[in-house]
Amino acid sequence: MSNILKGLLASLGALAALASPALAQADYPTQPITMVVPFSAGGPTDTVARLVAQVMSTELGQQVLVQNVGGAGGTLGAGQVANAKPDGYTLLLHHIGMSTAPTLYRNLAFDPLKAFAPIGLVTSVPMTIVARKDFEPADAAALLAYLKEKGADTTYAHAGIGSASHLCGMLLQEAAGVQMITVPYQGAAPAMTDIIGGQVDLLCDQTTNTTNQIKAGEVKAYAVTTPTRVASLPDLPTTTEVGLDKLQIGVWHGLYAPAGTDPAITAKLEAALQKALANATVVSRFAELGTAPVPMDQATPAALTAELTSQIELWRPIIQAAGTYAD
Ligand code: ASP
Repeated sequence: MSNILKGLLASLGALAALASPALAQADYPTQPITMVVPFSAGGPTDTVARLVAQVMSTELGQQVLVQNVGGAGGTLGAGQVANAKPDGYTLLLHHIGMSTAPTLYRNLAFDPLKAFAPIGLVTSVPMTIVARKDFEPADAAALLAYLKEKGADTTYAHAGIGSASHLCGMLLQEAAGVQMITVPYQGAAPAMTDIIGGQVDLLCDQTTNTTNQIKAGEVKAYAVTTPTRVASLPDLPTTTEVGLDKLQIGVWHGLYAPAGTDPAITAKLEAALQKALANATVVSRFAELGTAPVPMDQATPAALTAELTSQIELWRPIIQAAGTYAD
């Protein structure tokens, strides 16, 4: 083969190699996508993810399959996605825990602001303080008085250090000035099972995991952690109404890809997320569960980055004051 021909073939090869990533982005997605939820199946984050994933599947023309990777308050699943190939086929749907983990975990293996390509905010879900249905205190005032006296013997369920339920419990303990016996789970679904079964006393969790159980009378409910009451639970007072004004949490959720994902791919995912949040079934299921999709201009990478950045700053001093850390 002549040197000229060899040179020509080599250049063609190099051109093809350059062109193939672009082709991959244009065709994306050509195979099913995994959406990691860093908590157990059947819990509140899982519920949000499955509703969104279903519409995204239709929009993208490929299945978006939810995979539950629970443990360590969401840091296990998030770490898995941080290390995944940035090809658009592994995503993460995580919540507020993404912003508390860098302060709570002394040896967090990833930097939430550097390890991900943000896609957009999803929803902000209120939390509710609930208990096994035969738990003694009748209302929030009685609960506070009870915790001040017997809090050290009260069991509190949460989904691991860094989870929203852990965070809420931390604030409740601070309000009552007491350290409860904390019981960690892989997610709030098994925690709720044990509350219903009466094996554990208290839990504070998203309305996406508690609304049906409160309405069915399977658990006792004390308050909701938003400034105004939620329409799906109109009789439940807010934490402000019952004098727990520092206990304000909206569990914001975001969708992420691993850092390095091509912007052409994240743009497709952003568009699919926005379609999912505008979907009538998603809107009505969210409403039944006490929440709503974020406004469309928040379902963007810029809005998620801004929220994550400000929430890391917001929670750092609160966590430092509480002095709770994990390794
Ligand atoms: N709601 C849980 C939490 O406490 C996690 C879950 O199971 O979705 O963060």
